[in-house]
This record gives sequence, structure tokens and C-alpha cells, in this order.
Amino acid sequence: MQGAAPSPLDHPVHCLHGVGPEKTALLARLDVHTVRDLLLLRPRRHEDRRHTRPINSLQTGETAAVCGAIAASGVKSWRHGGRSVFECVVDDGTGRLHCRWWNLPYLQHHFHTGDPLFVFGRVTSLRPPTMDHPETERAEAGDDESIHLRRIVPVYPLTEGLTQRWLRTLIFRTLRQHAAEFRLATEPSSPPDAPPADQLILDLHFPTTPDAPEIARRHFALSELIAFQLELQRRRHLLLTHAVGRACPGNNRLVRPFLRQLGFTLTEAQTRVLREIRADLRTPCPMRRLLQGDVGSGKTVVAASAALMVLESGFNVALMAPTEILAAQHAATFAHWFTPLGLSVDLVTGSRKTTHAASPPPPTPAPSAATPPDPATPRLVIGTHALIQSGFALDRLGLVIIDEQHKFGVAQREQLLRKGHYPHLLVMTATPIPRTLGLTLYGDLDSSVIDAPPPGRGQVKTYLRGVERLPKVWAFVRQKLDEGRQAFFVYPRVEEDDGDTVKTVVAEHRRIARELAPHSVGMLHGQMPPAERDRIMTAFRRGDLKALVASSVIEVGLDVPNATLMVIENAERFGLAQLHQLRGRIGRGAHQSYCVLVADLRRPETRQRLAILAETHNGFRVAEADLQLRGPGEFLGQSQSGLPPFRFANLATDLELVESARARVRQTLL
Ligand code: ADP
Ligand code: MG
Repeated sequence: MQGAAPSPLDHPVHCLHGVGPEKTALLARLDVHTVRDLLLLRPRRHEDRRHTRPINSLQTGETAAVCGAIAASGVKSWRHGGRSVFECVVDDGTGRLHCRWWNLPYLQHHFHTGDPLFVFGRVTSLRPPTMDHPETERAEAGDDESIHLRRIVPVYPLTEGLTQRWLRTLIFRTLRQHAAEFRLATEPSSPPDAPPADQLILDLHFPTTPDAPEIARRHFALSELIAFQLELQRRRHLLLTHAVGRACPGNNRLVRPFLRQLGFTLTEAQTRVLREIRADLRTPCPMRRLLQGDVGSGKTVVAASAALMVLESGFNVALMAPTEILAAQHAATFAHWFTPLGLSVDLVTGSRKTTHAASPPPPTPAPSAATPPDPATPRLVIGTHALIQSGFALDRLGLVIIDEQHKFGVAQREQLLRKGHYPHLLVMTATPIPRTLGLTLYGDLDSSVIDAPPPGRGQVKTYLRGVERLPKVWAFVRQKLDEGRQAFFVYPRVEEDDGDTVKTVVAEHRRIARELAPHSVGMLHGQMPPAERDRIMTAFRRGDLKALVASSVIEVGLDVPNATLMVIENAERFGLAQLHQLRGRIGRGAHQSYCVLVADLRRPETRQRLAILAETHNGFRVAEADLQLRGPGEFLGQSQSGLPPFRFANLATDLELVESARARVRQTLL
């Protein structure tokens, strides 16, 4: 399209006949600004209005089209209250249909006895046959340009002030004028078998067969996905050709003793993934890899081994966690592993400026934290995303590990890395990402999956219980606490929020403490000062607290093998993936673990949704189901999902299209 004059499709909508400032503003609310936007406004659905039905064959509740002549019409009004109904009776020779409109008395001027009329609507009664607020159009012989009837008709998303008819007419006219100029965004790479774009755009709005809109949508979706993948792959290509990273061949000086002193051997899945990572690290081409694995699948050990390989090669490593709690926990774990190897682990958080080596978890002896770090030996620095994004710099950076988040967009990720000298990147996520989202959000990354948990892991049994069974649940928990186990109670809210019935951490803490006395019960939530949170977590870890009443802050963090019980109330308030994350806090020791989801189960949707968790413990299956049920935006969390705003592609269902777009783009770039 070099040097071409701007297409009329790029003109603002106010250039269209009949679109003034007021309508322009309303269309803008639908995100329609240009003529192209208007043509790409996707109908919510279509109504098949091609075939008319005899009035005497109509059934209550069905939606149908009828054609007849107006036999009578008139307005009935009530003197008090100013309410009225306009009624128009249509006769098609088989029966009479009563069409009613409430409080629209001026309609009487549009309907005249004897006129032919098309009617489309839902039959609300058969005594007499009645439709309320149907769509109608004067049916004139030879009028083949009928927009709203006698065809498969689009139904658009609306905003207050816009009517279906007005919008449909506008799009119909605009198509007649501009469809021929329409091209797919990625014409050069669009499939050879694709119908011409002008046909697709017509099919999208005013199809001649019921299947046509979906076929058209798929073409538009594919085109969108191709454009997106092109951009991703272009960036990746740029990185691979221009970026020089640091080759980290390692020498096993640290990795070997590390693996020997772990106390367990890596699983097959861990070994395979580690091999993939090590192959990347050896080369000067910066690694860009996503490490996926269910909660507890053992990603941390793999990340630690990767870090050691880089440290062996003389470069520094940074690990970023999403919260201070998790950063501190990682620092403790890594200090426990790395200090015996003579390496220094630094925790850098907002509340704790560069502290040398966090204290390790209690069951293990304290490391000799007294010796100051030798600046010449490479080190591991652990902090939060926010902190490191805000300008923290570490030279000779060989590897950046980003833990536990799936909400970074591609651009954000690169921005994070730009400071360094193209270090290798390992992104770890514990929320398994369905493939469609993975290919989109992480399309620029290679992927490694730890697909099986370590052996000997206690199983988590998950149960669904109605609120009325709570006393039994408490009795069960009390019994397990008597046996020496520990428990979590999780609530969706921290404090009361005007008249809501959702249970809160603060209120329930009092109640649970009473129910479980004399066992000691602590409280943990995100609004507590970090020092207080630390204190509570340490007490729980040590077993001084037997139960913890918490908000979803425990979703990430806490690794307490003796905690084998989790009760989640108002479980319907959480996403499935989040619930799965939460229950990943238990089942970490050898004892059988139990997760009880308490919810109002009278709603079949709630029961059906939560039942998925009782059925499977496979994080990918949970994630897939969650995505299907809630859609990508909700699944990822609205605000910073990093998802491109697709108009046509549906990441919950279009896996095949996503894969085909990716394959096509790979081909063109090779
Ligand atoms: P993730 O980060 O994937 O949620 P972790 O790395 O925290 O999981 O591992 C969970 C627990 O399993 C840790 O206590 C870890 O030491 C242990 N673990 C990891 N790999 C193995 C293994 N191969 N065999 C036995 N235990 C393991
Ligand atoms: Mg982890």
C-alpha cells in the first residue's frame, strides 16, 4: 500500500451521512471511531428472519417472523399514571397476531389499516397470539433491500441512545458504499483459500447462510492473530540477531554439590527441563524461556540449578518475586541452599534495604551470615518486581528469573531487561497457562513444562460442602489439629464492606479461634504491616500457631509441610485457578491433605464450577476449565493482563487459529 492516499475507511464516522456530533459520541462508546471500526463492529448474534410463519402455527415462547396485513390498530391509555399501550392487529389469513407496544402512543401514526407488515418477535401468549415490542417493517412487494426483515439480520451491541435499527441501517448503508475497499489487516499472509475481504465483511453483518458469520469471524480472527504473532516474532527475531548475551557454560563446580546435598533426586520432568535450560544458557544468545509447572512441582530447585550454572560462569543472578512475602521466602530457601556453597544471597525489598542473607527456615541450622559478601564472587539478589523495575541495577547480570506471575506483557518484560546486558531470562509461572494464552502472552518465549509432581507427595483430597455443614467441617479440623496437623482458613475479604454477606478474615478469626480453642489461631492478611505478617508466618511455620485465618495472600508463599488442611469459605468468590493455587499450599508433606470448599451450593453453576476442583488436581485442566468459564480477561485479571484487545479472536476457544497463525508467521520469517 505504499504511498496510497488514506483509505476512506480511515475517515472518522462523522463523515458518514446521518452521523452528527451526538451519534459520534455514542459510537465512540462502542469504540467505533472510524469507518473501518464501524465495519468491524462485530454483531452479538444474528436472527434468522428469512422465513415467515403462519400465525396459527405459532407456539408460546418461540421467536418467529410473520407477514400479514394490518387489520386494526389503536391506543389504549389509563387516565391515571399516563400509561398507554398501542396495539396493532396483523391478519395473515390463518389467524390474527396482536402486536403491543407499551408507552409509545406515537407509533399509531406509523401503522395504517390495510398496510402489509412484516413482524419479528417472541410470542408471549396464544390467547390471543401476541408479541410485545416486536420488530416490524412495512413489507412492500419488490423491496429486496429490506434491511431488518426477510433476511438473516445482525444484532449489535448497543449503548444507551443508540437503537438497533439505526445502527443496522448505518452499517448496511456504509457496507454498500465501502465494502469494496475493505482488506484484511494481514492480506499478504492471509490464507489462499480465504474468500475476498469484501465478501467476508458482508458475511459478517448480512450473511446469506447461517454459517457465514462464523466463517467470516474466523478469517478476521486469524488475520488478527497473524498480525499479533508477526509483531511478537519480529521482536524475537530482532533480539536473536542483535542481542549479544553472556555465554554461561558453567563447570558443575556448584551444581554438582548442590544436587548431591539436596536430599532428593530430580524427577524426570525436572531433569528434562533443566537440560533445556542449560542448553540455552551455554550460548551467547539470550535465553527467553517460560517455565511452567503446577504448584509444588519443583520449579524452584530447577531455577536454583540454573542460577548456579550462571554463578559458576562468573555472572550475577537476579530473582524477582511478585510480593515481599514471597521474596523473603525465596531468600530463606536459597540462603539455606547456597550459603553452604560459599555464595551470598541478598534480599532487596522496599522495607528491607539490601540485607545480607535472610534467615533460613527453622528446621535447618542457621548459615554463617556474619561474613560480609566478597564483591568479586558472583551473587544472587532477590527482590520484588516493583523494586527491580524501579531502577535497581546489578552489573554483570547473567540471568534474570521472574517468579510466579503471568501478568506481564511482552513490552514490560523487555523493559525490565533493558537495563542489563541482555541477560538470560527465565519466567516461572505456577498458574498453568492454557495453550492459547501461552502462545499469545508468551509467544515470544520458548516453553518448558514440569508436568509431573515429585514422588511421595501427599495427595490433596478436595471436598465441596454447603454452608450448613460448617460445624462438621470444624469438628474434622479440630480432630486433625489434635493429631498434630495445622490448618488454613481462607476468606475472600479482609474487612466488612457495606452490607455484603461475604465473610471476612477479621470477623471469622474471632469465631474460628473460639471454635478451635484451646488450639491457637493466628490471622494473616495483606493489610497487616510486613513485620507483623513475618511474625505470624514464622509462628505458624514453627507450629506455635495451629491454624491461620487468612486472605488470599497465602496464595503465594508459605511452605509448611505440616499444614494439611485448608478450608476456603465463600469459595464461589474465587476463580478456579486461584483456588487451585491456594490448595497448592497444602499437600506438601507426607500426610494426607484435605481441602474443603465451602459455598452456597444451591446454585447449580456454582456447584458445577467448583466440582471441577474436586475432580482433578491437574493445574492445566483446571486452568483450561477456568478460561472456558470466565474468558481470558477475567482469567488473567482485568487490569494488567497484557492481552492484546482482539475484536474477533477468542482465546478461550480459538486454539486451532492461534496455532495456525503462529505456524504461518514462522514460515514467512524463515
Ligand atoms: P514450585 O515452586 O514449583 O511450587 P517448589 O520448588 O517450591 O515447587 O517445590 C515444592 C517442594 O517440593 C519443595 O519443598 C521442594 O524442596 C520439594 N521438591 C522439589 N523437587 C523435588 C524432588 N525431585 N523430589 C522430592 N521433593 C522435591
Ligand atoms: Mg514456587
